[in-house]
Amino acid sequence: MTRSDPGATDAELSVVAPVHNESENIGPLLERLAPVLQRCAASFEVIFVDDGSTDDTLEIVRAAHARDPRIRALSLSRNFGKEVAIAAGLDHARGAATVIMDADLQHPPEAIESFVALWRQGYKNVFGQRTDRAADSPLRRLLTQRFYSLFGSVGETSLPEGAGDFRLLDAQAVAALRAMREHARFSKGLYAWIGFKSIGAPFEVEARAHGSSKFSYLKLTNFALDGLMSFTTLPLKVWSYIGVATSIFALAMATFFLTRTLIFGVDVPGYASLIVSITFFAGIQLLSLGVIGEYVGRIFAEVKRRPLYLIEERIGVAPLPEDNRLPPSDWV
Ligand code: UDP
Ligand code: MG
Repeated sequence: MTRSDPGATDAELSVVAPVHNESENIGPLLERLAPVLQRCAASFEVIFVDDGSTDDTLEIVRAAHARDPRIRALSLSRNFGKEVAIAAGLDHARGAATVIMDADLQHPPEAIESFVALWRQGYKNVFGQRTDRAADSPLRRLLTQRFYSLFGSVGETSLPEGAGDFRLLDAQAVAALRAMREHARFSKGLYAWIGFKSIGAPFEVEARAHGSSKFSYLKLTNFALDGLMSFTTLPLKVWSYIGVATSIFALAMATFFLTRTLIFGVDVPGYASLIVSITFFAGIQLLSLGVIGEYVGRIFAEVKRRPLYLIEERIGVAPLPEDNRLPPSDWV
């Protein structure tokens, strides 16, 4: 088997956009995107990854492909979530560089020009850096900020401020991401984990053009948990410290009560402190079990080694070469 060259291209620039019920946004997006790509790349392709849309998103993309074959699409067999949709797009992007962007026009296509300029200067991981979060609701802003400060203190990979999915990745960085087949995908962490020469390019997040955000607070919470658990094992380790601390405390209490009993004799009262400590420690044990359960559940999901996604239809996108996933020989 021969290895595919991760830099093999038939377009200089690939754009990957996950779409879930974005029928109203695809037209306006392409209208703004195409001239930008025309200006800044010798050749380009746009890959929409239809993440189980239930509206006519796929039909609109199909029509766009008929007009311009550089507009391509993968249609996943169901909704796999934005992170997996991005992974599917990256697997199939053949550009010397790939831009990842949302299709709702929150990521202004014009910013791609500055990304490409930085890439031409030699940066391989150019991330869009949002200058403010005014487009998000105050509650989401607050929770996002809390999450990032928590991730900053416990995460084993540091995330650059304000960086999201809107970015440009060199083919080498894309190949690195392709090698990561984890199901609980926290892309922002993966982009930071791979390293490469990185730089931020500021952009202003616009309001969503049509429709509303596909992320409910429940989805965001699960995503945040995935993110934390994929990038830190601290929640697992912390129980050892709590265990040691409570054991020392229990030993001290035992010594105290033993001595007191030996000196003053048996003392019956103590019901309240007994019941409080029993429930307290039962609570702690359940909590620690719960945390372990969260990790075990994720391990279970990963060891099943199911495919990350299933493609129902390809529009202008060639199937992957069989040896696509072999990592280059300089990865250990
Ligand atoms: N998206 C997706 N699958 C999903 C949810 C969202 O492909 O399950 C896409 C969506 O169509 C959009 C992008 O991911 O292009 C960002 O989604 P959204 O605007 O809802 O997220 P937000 O901007 O609120 O973070
Ligand atoms: Mg959006």
